[in-house]
Amino acid sequence: MVEVPWALEIGGTEIRGRIDAVFVDPDGTVHLVDWKTGHAHENYKTRLQLPLYALAANKLWGIEPEKTRLAYAFVPGDALVEVSTEGDFLGVAEERVLEALDRIKVGRFEPTPSRYACSRCPVMGVGIPGCPMEVPEE
Ligand code: SF4
Repeated sequence: MVEVPWALEIGGTEIRGRIDAVFVDPDGTVHLVDWKTGHAHENYKTRLQLPLYALAANKLWGIEPEKTRLAYAFVPGDALVEVSTEGDFLGVAEERVLEALDRIKVGRFEPTPSRYACSRCPVMGVGIPGCPMEVPEE
């Protein structure tokens, strides 16, 4: 399935998204995939996007973390960054979503510098608090 839409209430806020691709193995393992352009980087392992999709898949469709595989797939090419679903994965994901919602509600949007993002950013170097003045090494 591609472009799979979902909507979920977390902490009193409706969150909506669309999963690029969902593959289901014969044994019921569900692969949630987000296509990316650019270069694969380990930083993707800490992004909230796929954990949020996994949370939606669990709450809406009953897919347990043990049966969930998460991957950012980079095109062109065949690079993958896979995200672990071990431990209290869904609990941690929900906590992170709630924290992100709290930050949004009070208008806290701290910059998160990275070499990849800042090198393409139109406001890099203009002096926004928290932003670097030069492209970071990593
Ligand atoms: S310069 Fe600031 S706003 Fe732009 S990508 Fe870097 S951290 Fe984000």
